[in-house]
Amino acid sequence: MPRPRREPRRPAVTVLRLGHRPGRDPRLTTHVALVARALGAQRLYLEPPDPGLAARIDAVRRAWGGAFEVVGVKDWKRVVREFPGTIVHLTMYGQALERVVPRLRRAKELLIIVGGAKVPGDLYRMASVNVAVGHQPQSEVGALALTLDRLLGVPGPGAWAGAHRTIVPTARGKRVRTIPSEAGA
Ligand code: SAM
Repeated sequence: MPRPRREPRRPAVTVLRLGHRPGRDPRLTTHVALVARALGAQRLYLEPPDPGLAARIDAVRRAWGGAFEVVGVKDWKRVVREFPGTIVHLTMYGQALERVVPRLRRAKELLIIVGGAKVPGDLYRMASVNVAVGHQPQSEVGALALTLDRLLGVPGPGAWAGAHRTIVPTARGKRVRTIPSEAGA
């Protein structure tokens, strides 16, 4: 009898967003967080911390499910030094994504780092690998989305345990199913 095919194991991904400017660019960092969550990362480290943004993303998690969290970080170098896996710095100066993806898919734990307006120079040598998503300037949101897609693919409906809202896909219009919580909230 043919053996059932096992799904390949995918790395556990954490994202580190450097150079967030609380109160100045909340939309851009919010989009980094939404993309990280929707495309299968487990956690976003946010430097510097922004409790308001973390609370807004947590409200998204409570409504739409899954286990994503935003954790504020004051000392990003410590996070990088202590991370128990491969450090992937996204930068247009790095090696081509398609070249390194096969190796990264075999990792157990990945820390994917995206910068802001100015990236600290130390990061280039602290990273296990500097990775470019095309060798043109673009956005941290675009570079992160493409990297997560190549590494993990878009998560299916099974990824969103505990959701109170799920979308019923339709050709036109909008259908959302609301699942009441046990407390009846
Ligand atoms: N000028 C900044 C610098 O010092 O490198 C980069 C600013 S860019 C708007 C913000 C972030 O987007 C970068 O830190 C990087 O993480 C990501 N990024 C931009 N273009 C990229 C590319 N082609 N490949 C990978 N990441 C990229």
